[in-house]
Amino acid sequence: MCIFCKIVNGEIPNNTVHENEQFLAFHDLYPKAPVHILVIPKQHVDCFQDVQPEVMAGMTMFIQEVAKKTGLDKTGYRLVANNGEDGGQEVMHLHFHILGGGKLRWDHS
Ligand code: IMP
Repeated sequence: MCIFCKIVNGEIPNNTVHENEQFLAFHDLYPKAPVHILVIPKQHVDCFQDVQPEVMAGMTMFIQEVAKKTGLDKTGYRLVANNGEDGGQEVMHLHFHILGGGKLRWDHS
């Protein structure tokens, strides 16, 4: 079972920000911005390339809720999905990074 499935199952603790039946948002253990939240579907999907559009519809609404709950909807934030090896995806369970809490630099190297 992958590490994020273990988080969903409660086998690994997490710092939850927001949750519903389908999705979970929690703080990244190694934040790369003042605010760094990960959003995952509870049902395992490997990566963005494999996700069904219906899941993405729910994910979109959920991410908007997370932004409202944390105030990031007012200040702005960056949404990132690393996909596959060249994209730098380390955990093969689809996740969106919500990055914010300050002015972010844009360095895509
Ligand atoms: P990726 O490189 O896009 O796959 O991002 C994986 C993210 O998961 C990284 O930002 C890690 O810091 C984060 N991460 C790994 N393990 C944990 C954990 O147990 N809890 C919270 N975040 C984690």
